[in-house]
Amino acid sequence: MKKSAIVIGAGMGGLVAATHLAQHGLRVTVIEKNSRPGGRCDRISREGHHFDTGPTLMVMPLLYEAEFAALGADMNERVDLRRIDPTYHLVFDDGSQLSLTSDMDDMRYQLEAIEPGAFEAFRRYLDEGRRHYEVGTEKLVNRDFRTFGDFFNLDNLPLIYQLKPFARHFDHMSDYFQSNRLKAAFTFQDVYMGLSPFEAPATFSMMPYTEIAHGVWYPRGGMYALIEAMAGLARDAGVEFVFDTEVKQIVIKDDRARGVVLEDGAQLRADVVVANADLPYVYRELLPPGEMAEKMAHKRYSCSTISFFWGLDCLCPMPPHTLFLADDYRENFVSIIRDLAMPANPSVYIHSPARLDPTMAPPGQDSLIAVVPVGHLAENKTQDWGEILDRARDHVFRRLALLGITDLPDHIKFETSFNPLSWRKRYNLVKGATHGLCHNLTQLAYFRPGNRHPDYENLYFVGASTHPGTGLPTAMVSGRLVAKRVTDDLGIYQIGRGSSKARRKPEPVI
Ligand SMILES: Cc1cc2nc3c(=O)[nH]c(=O)nc-3n(C[C@H](O)[C@H](O)[C@H](O)COP(=O)(O)OP(=O)(O)OC[C@H]3O[C@@H](n4cnc5c(N)ncnc54)[C@H](O)[C@@H]3O)c2cc1C
Repeated sequence: MKKSAIVIGAGMGGLVAATHLAQHGLRVTVIEKNSRPGGRCDRISREGHHFDTGPTLMVMPLLYEAEFAALGADMNERVDLRRIDPTYHLVFDDGSQLSLTSDMDDMRYQLEAIEPGAFEAFRRYLDEGRRHYEVGTEKLVNRDFRTFGDFFNLDNLPLIYQLKPFARHFDHMSDYFQSNRLKAAFTFQDVYMGLSPFEAPATFSMMPYTEIAHGVWYPRGGMYALIEAMAGLARDAGVEFVFDTEVKQIVIKDDRARGVVLEDGAQLRADVVVANADLPYVYRELLPPGEMAEKMAHKRYSCSTISFFWGLDCLCPMPPHTLFLADDYRENFVSIIRDLAMPANPSVYIHSPARLDPTMAPPGQDSLIAVVPVGHLAENKTQDWGEILDRARDHVFRRLALLGITDLPDHIKFETSFNPLSWRKRYNLVKGATHGLCHNLTQLAYFRPGNRHPDYENLYFVGASTHPGTGLPTAMVSGRLVAKRVTDDLGIYQIGRGSSKARRKPEPVI
């Protein structure tokens, strides 16, 4: 008789784990509280306007490609991708701009205008980023650390100097640039790891490297097209979905997961349970209280966002990805991470999806997403999200005025907005932390919560707050690693039809 698995949550990690398990002969049911798959990679559609609510940047394309291949699928046949270049338009407080592009002549011209000698420094920085990317993806991301010895061994010893884990990213940038703006331009990506560049290890130079070298991509139809492709693969493999149904409890008996209890009290049994819901929430709400739940409460959480989704009645001449990068960069992070607040002069990210795919807005109109990073939900202080939301909106309008866009408020047909409470309510993210547990040194690699419960041997964890970490491609890797662990535990050994491709070395692009 087929073994059965229940997957709690249809986020990217849950979808990938479910698909692998079904491909390996398990009877898999995915239970999702919302009415469609995707989790944080969600979509809002209204009056012909479409918005990706979470991810808007497809970075590390080689990881995506490898994970589709591991499921026996060709990503490029399933998703219609185009490369975005320039990747970001950075706008500084005085209105000056820097476009990040893989066109090296253009980069030379722009960087030298900011700081003589900066282009050669940039080449050196990219070279370091390449080493960090290659070693990091092979030794940290694609690895499953099941035991102490899997991480602490002679083979991994060189990582201490190869990956510069003890150098702080922003300080380390002084080896390359004098200009604080340039240091900011190549470290802001640390936010994706839930970290301030003043704390993040220099290892994360891998992110600006991969953005420039392998590109930032956009699927036709938005990032949600990736979810549709993955959910399609899951259905093809025989995965069954149950939507609009919240799991209330994971049933544990004799140190094993026996199944789940749903919101209406119904009990479903399974041989294996895989939790894709945010891990701290799983410990806090779905499992019996214990030491691990207590430990989770004391872990470090990433920041959150106020996100605006605006349907406009006219075209707004914005590039696809614009980042207004505040000059008071350090104060921004202090305010967000230490004070759990919104900075006085926050950096702002604007995404204009219709520049990349005209079907994201009705003809002659536009869809605009504005994201303002803020602290996550505080337990011991009052945060007035209504007031913060109004301040954030005014601030975005002021920023847009730097580009000569002064009449945006007159053209907003409708607004939908998310704040940290929305993130918590919609996806059960503890503290509304959009990227889950952050990636500081004590929550990285072997130190990050693993993909299997330490005591309950048939309870597995997949997704952003588990190994290897946050982001869509890493959620996919997490799904494969979990499925491998399940099949190893069950004695099924042929995981990953395309696994050799999954471990393929990235090819240099520049
Ligand atoms: C604003 C924002 C911007 C981002 N930008 C990017 C980006 O540009 N690029 C990138 O790669 N990544 C980005 N990310 C990160 C990325 O979205 C996440 O890391 C990734 O989607 C997490 O996937 P996951 O597998 O952990 O599942 P999640 O997306 O967390 O999904 C878990 C699912 O479990 C469901 N669930 C929870 N509790 C229950 C329950 N009790 N019963 C049933 N179902 C339950 C939830 O509804 C959800 O659908 C961004 C995230 C946010 C929020």
